[in-house]
Amino acid sequence: MELIDTHTHLTFAELENDIAVIARSKEAKVTGWITVGTDRAQIEKVLALVPKYDNMYAALGIHPHYAKDVSSADISFLKSAAQTDKVVAIGETGLDYHYTYSEAEEQKGLFSKQLEIAAKLSLPVVVHCRNAFDDTMQILGRFAGTLTGVVIHCFSGSAEQARVILERGYYISFTGMVTFKKNVAQTIEAAKIVPLDRMMLETDCPYISPEPVRNKRPCEPAFLVHTARKLAELKGMDFADFARQVTKTSRNFFNLP
Ligand SMILES: [Zn+2]
Repeated sequence: MELIDTHTHLTFAELENDIAVIARSKEAKVTGWITVGTDRAQIEKVLALVPKYDNMYAALGIHPHYAKDVSSADISFLKSAAQTDKVVAIGETGLDYHYTYSEAEEQKGLFSKQLEIAAKLSLPVVVHCRNAFDDTMQILGRFAGTLTGVVIHCFSGSAEQARVILERGYYISFTGMVTFKKNVAQTIEAAKIVPLDRMMLETDCPYISPEPVRNKRPCEPAFLVHTARKLAELKGMDFADFARQVTKTSRNFFNLP
């Protein structure tokens, strides 16, 4: 039994000096990690970290929060960084209309530029979508047939939205949110209809610690087992069998060895 945490921020301040995080993760049988860079400084840290661990890979992108400050030099930097060894995806990139730290139009422009890079480099895309479902799907639609793979990360939408995503051939990644006791009914319903060959798991650590460690901060990859157990239970499946299948999906999506 092994699990892959497909979305971590191991270079964020809460986790970056805690080397025991990886040991605890392995002990919990979470033996693979995608570490996600979200801006230029984080991308540099991610590229320094991933060579240190077997089974650790990078997704590189510029988060929509920073759209207003991004220059064309930053885009060129991302494009060349993405051609480094062990970079397996572009992202996270997308749209965030919950915080709207940058204007929607700026976010859309930055998202499109990163999708162009993903298409050009034949890398899958990790998409951040918060309160922006229609625009996100519309922009992704413009790249139909050119993207290797698309995952909507940290999915918290409805079964209806999940159906639209699945019809497009995209993947859906769930966080510890599915373990929460309140206000997650629609996400639970969505999880029920996502087949395991389209489902991935993530902690999005240091955020979103699952139950029963919800109040423990920061979140870390070892906690992925709680999310996995909950989803296996929702699917009415044996845990080991569930883990095997979602791990296979993650390996295929990110083209991991
Ligand atoms: Zn993230």
